[in-house]
Amino acid sequence: MTDAPVADTDVVVLGGGLAGVACALRLGDEGVRVSLVDRNDYHQFQPLLYQVATSQLPAEDVARPHRSIFRAHPTVELRSGEATRVDPPTRSVLLAGGDVVRGTHLVIAAGGRAEFFGVPGAAEHAYPLYSVEDAERLRLHLQDLLAPDGAGQRPEDALDVVVVGGGPTGVEVAGALAELADALVQLGELPRRGRIVLVDRGATLLGAFSEKSHAYALHRLTKQGAEVRLGTGVAAVHPDRVELDDGSVLPTRTVVWGGGESAAGVVAGVDLPSGRGGRVDVGPDLAVVGHPQVYAVGDVANIPAAVDPGVLPQLGSVAQQSGRWAAENILRDRAGQPTRPFHYKDKGIMAMIGRNAAVAEVGRHRHQVDGPVAFAAWLGVHAMLLSGSHSRTDAFLSWAWDYFDRDHAAVVESSTTPRRIAWGDDEADLPTIAVGRTPAAPAGSA
Ligand SMILES: Cc1cc2nc3c(=O)[nH]c(=O)nc-3n(C[C@H](O)[C@H](O)[C@H](O)COP(=O)(O)OP(=O)(O)OC[C@H]3O[C@@H](n4cnc5c(N)ncnc54)[C@H](O)[C@@H]3O)c2cc1C
Repeated sequence: MTDAPVADTDVVVLGGGLAGVACALRLGDEGVRVSLVDRNDYHQFQPLLYQVATSQLPAEDVARPHRSIFRAHPTVELRSGEATRVDPPTRSVLLAGGDVVRGTHLVIAAGGRAEFFGVPGAAEHAYPLYSVEDAERLRLHLQDLLAPDGAGQRPEDALDVVVVGGGPTGVEVAGALAELADALVQLGELPRRGRIVLVDRGATLLGAFSEKSHAYALHRLTKQGAEVRLGTGVAAVHPDRVELDDGSVLPTRTVVWGGGESAAGVVAGVDLPSGRGGRVDVGPDLAVVGHPQVYAVGDVANIPAAVDPGVLPQLGSVAQQSGRWAAENILRDRAGQPTRPFHYKDKGIMAMIGRNAAVAEVGRHRHQVDGPVAFAAWLGVHAMLLSGSHSRTDAFLSWAWDYFDRDHAAVVESSTTPRRIAWGDDEADLPTIAVGRTPAAPAGSA
């Protein structure tokens, strides 16, 4: 790959998100030597990013240092750094600075990045929500816009926001922002509630869900005061407005981009089979076709599924289960046994549309539930996802019930010191989160 010194290990895992952590923990349980490479020294929990962006949780609560997660796994070596290239034939990863890490097996778990589909100005001016740094950047931007002027007045248009994308991310952000706007008006902190407009090219919200959920999401968002514009795409994003492809213009200084996702930049241009979203195509056992000792898992991979659209969705439970399954297959391979096809245990699909509105579709026949029952389903699935990185998921459950129940205005009032999740583990061991205030694409988003 280069002439730089090569560090040899058993398994190189690129990415310490839900997939990479699950994989490295399982291998570490068996004493396998693992090098876990990530640009961050922490594991980020994406489902709670919009809580960070709307000042309802501090970033530290959704970013757990990898060193804390792997404290009891001495064979897992952590390497903080940007991977600039992967080389499937040698199962190696090249780091910025020139180091090379090589394994007998390589697991690519580098996740995804925002996809702007070439919309002019979107990469420069829109705020994606894919990482903790994205969420912090958006929070600081909103905080700047909401700052009172010399006469103690907040600008009327501070919370005029356009949210692009009617999938779970867009719906969740729009719901949270609508509630924030309402609460600020109730408290007399904003002269008028912001104009929050959600735009999507498609004909429905929450496209992957059933018609009943489409209607529920539309009803709840509209009830919360958000405007929903379906069947319309974004033509261009400017610092002070958005142009839609029906010719209309929406004045705004905040465009939140939940409009699409593709594979992490590090796999672009690598000689690997790839398909939808630039993701790496894998076989049934999660190994890359033609490279039996290279696996791709989680959001970076197209994992085959028997049902339409033929691949599994980009979901936390898919990432966590595929990471663990890849580890099992590597253990089998090391023991001279054949690998096994991945079997996904479907936990359903769900979204939170504000504080006391959630929708979930669970079970083999995708039974639809909404309200508190859906929230309970959301809690169960997310507690399971968090159990990979935290020992005290009861702390999350208690925080979440409180969040679901509490009066909106009271929460916003205390949002300078939001109620924290009392994780109780290694609270002094903080992740390194560095953010600027502009939406300039972070590493890996470009
Ligand atoms: C806003 C949002 C909300 C979501 N809500 C839900 C939800 O409610 N429920 C649900 O099930 N799913 C949800 N998802 C999806 C879910 O979070 C993802 O499917 C899951 O986190 C993917 O895990 P992963 O390990 O594949 O990737 P990630 O968690 O993205 O991890 C990838 C890791 O690779 C690292 N990395 C990438 N490139 C490089 C590089 N070049 N060098 C070094 N390190 C690199 C990154 O730093 C990161 O740590 C949400 C996603 C988003 C964005």
